[in-house]
Amino acid sequence: MACAFCDIIAGRRPATLVYEDERVAAFHDIHPAAPVHILVIPREHISGPDALAAGDATLAGHLIVVAGRIAQDLGIAADGYRLVLNEGRQGGQSVFHVHLHLLGGRRMSWPLG
Ligand code: 5GP
Ligand code: ZN
Repeated sequence: MACAFCDIIAGRRPATLVYEDERVAAFHDIHPAAPVHILVIPREHISGPDALAAGDATLAGHLIVVAGRIAQDLGIAADGYRLVLNEGRQGGQSVFHVHLHLLGGRRMSWPLG
């Protein structure tokens, strides 16, 4: 099945990468919702947070650790930022390859819409 984020991992689809290692990659969101909007994804195709298995716990944690490192590198950590995982249609998920949103550079509102 075609997956935009698998295409980015494979280099078939352009993206502005900010971080890569053997397990994950991170790149700028094509439609940024904040001055800084990065997506951190596993190289492995996992459809969403709900598809994460017990064996993926280290990988899931790594997504968060990498997001924090990127926030530091991009200079938004001191002011604060938001991490978001959307699951399914009610959760607002539109790309079915699990991705952690890193949003920063402006004040975030709460509660979410
Ligand atoms: P979701 O709504 O699934 O949580 O978030 C998907 C995000 O992926 C959206 O913010 C959307 O702008 C972004 N996106 C969708 N397709 C592409 C793409 O091809 N490249 C990049 N860089 N971002 C994408
Ligand atoms: Zn995929």
